[in-house]
Amino acid sequence: MIKGIFGRLLLSSLAVILITVIILLFLLSYVYTSFYTSEKEKRLIKAGKEINSLTETYLERNIPKKELTKEIKGIAHRYNSEISIFPVEADKQQVNQSLEAFTSHLTEDYFTEQDINKVLKGKTVSKITSEPKINLMSVAVPLTINGKVVGGVSLHSPMYDVAAASIQLRRLSAIVIILAALIATILTYFLSKYFSRPLQDMSRVASKIAKGDFSGSVTVKSKDELGALAQSFNHMAGQLAKAEKMRKDFIANISHELRTPISFISGVLQGIDDKAFNPQEEKKYVSLSIKEIERVNGLINDMLELSRIEHGDIKLELQKVDLQELILEILAEKEPQFLKKDLRPELNFTGKTYVLADPYRIKQVILNLVGNAIKFSPPKSAIIIGIKKDLSEATVWIKDFGPGIAKEEQEYIWDRFYKIDKTRKREEGGAGLGLAITKMLVEAHKGSIGVKSELGQGSTFYFTLPLWRNEK
Ligand code: ADP
Repeated sequence: MIKGIFGRLLLSSLAVILITVIILLFLLSYVYTSFYTSEKEKRLIKAGKEINSLTETYLERNIPKKELTKEIKGIAHRYNSEISIFPVEADKQQVNQSLEAFTSHLTEDYFTEQDINKVLKGKTVSKITSEPKINLMSVAVPLTINGKVVGGVSLHSPMYDVAAASIQLRRLSAIVIILAALIATILTYFLSKYFSRPLQDMSRVASKIAKGDFSGSVTVKSKDELGALAQSFNHMAGQLAKAEKMRKDFIANISHELRTPISFISGVLQGIDDKAFNPQEEKKYVSLSIKEIERVNGLINDMLELSRIEHGDIKLELQKVDLQELILEILAEKEPQFLKKDLRPELNFTGKTYVLADPYRIKQVILNLVGNAIKFSPPKSAIIIGIKKDLSEATVWIKDFGPGIAKEEQEYIWDRFYKIDKTRKREEGGAGLGLAITKMLVEAHKGSIGVKSELGQGSTFYFTLPLWRNEK
């Protein structure tokens, strides 16, 4: 994997460097060439003008010819150029002889007749000619005497500097490319390590998970996208581990819940077969076996119900439900159980409260909670059932004065098969599926469920439901 990321990162950073340097090289060379060309042109024009004024003085015979030659040579040297002066045909007589030493073939070679005509009209001409080895800049300025054009001065200068500069630039770019590539390789190496480590970790942990080992996790250091990915990966691994544990627990719990009644029933049947019981005992064991079968039946029903809710297979028949009426109906149904433990139901609501719910399912919810309250209440105590109304929802609460639930247990009681008192007598309770089903049913109604409880103080279970609205 390192190789893959490293190679790709290196290739892309090298490509970026190369493209940048090449573009920079072109830009620099263009800017430099145009700057140098215009500077050179300006200098040559200036030199031409200097020669013009020298020639003017000479033609007025203020300086000797030798002096002029020397001056022009000096200028030619200073401007690294070949200089020639060409007189106008008409003035040839007067000017030609005096300047003949300065005429050169270069002027005719590099300027067209059109160019020379332009100069003779008082304009400056400049051009660049490509020679086999070097570019040559040629400038021609008019030669004036007393404001009258009598000819022209031409200057030719090789553009060595541009050539030299472009060679220099190319060298510099080569050095920059090599240096940048070196730095890029080193940086890419560390970067690719940085990027690939969490990915490698994830791949390692993933293959461990695939083999059923959920112990590994990826170390998250950075706060960037990779860090976020590693974090989600860890979360996913955690969820998978949890799901796997739930699956194992689930099977273990079902096996446990089924094994006990089955071995009990098989023991009873065996006893009957062996004629080991007297008629009275036999009657007792058979009726206990029937109870066990009913319990198993209940357990299977609960499991099917859970699975149906979980897979969204139940369809809620939402309608206007009067909570007060429903609670009174449940209390009437549960009266025998209240009486059996001498429990006092107390009601804490006045008037009707209408909610949007499936009456059958909400009855199931309240039956479960009231059933638990009865189960856990000490004899002769009270169970209070109340309704509270808000702007948008109603809260039903059921308070008992039983043993209460420790804070650390409260978050687990909603898990399937969770029982606080594992040694509780079997006939005392279900398999720990009741609250799991209850919670799912409330949540299917878009309500929430919770418990407030302290050990020794009793428990208050509550759940909310959306209020029924007229307009609905
Ligand atoms: P069960 O069918 O075993 O009662 P539930 O899912 O209804 O299972 O409840 C889960 C566990 O929560 C119970 O085993 C019990 O320990 C605890 N519990 C539920 N209701 C109460 C209550 N009113 N008072 C004390 N503990 C309760």
